[in-house]
Amino acid sequence: MAIVNVMENFVGERIEAMLEAEDCCKCERCVDDMKAIALNKLPSKYVSTHNGELFSKLDATIRQNAVDINIAVAAAIDAVSKRPSH
Ligand SMILES: [Zn+2]
Repeated sequence: MAIVNVMENFVGERIEAMLEAEDCCKCERCVDDMKAIALNKLPSKYVSTHNGELFSKLDATIRQNAVDINIAVAAAIDAVSKRPSH
């Protein structure tokens, strides 16, 4: 199935970038928890990846949702770093 949720890619990138400045646990488990929390607050953006269109669609999605994504990611990092699940 050539379908991906581009929001997943972008949230993953934002978490990685924002975690560089954070002094919290960055293990796979915590990062996955952060990703799940952030993605639950954001709309899914599924695109088909035929014809190599993924990147232009990804760009449009980022522009439309950049502020929302940053807020959701920051809140998710905050929540998990205060209460890591381990
Ligand atoms: Zn951890």
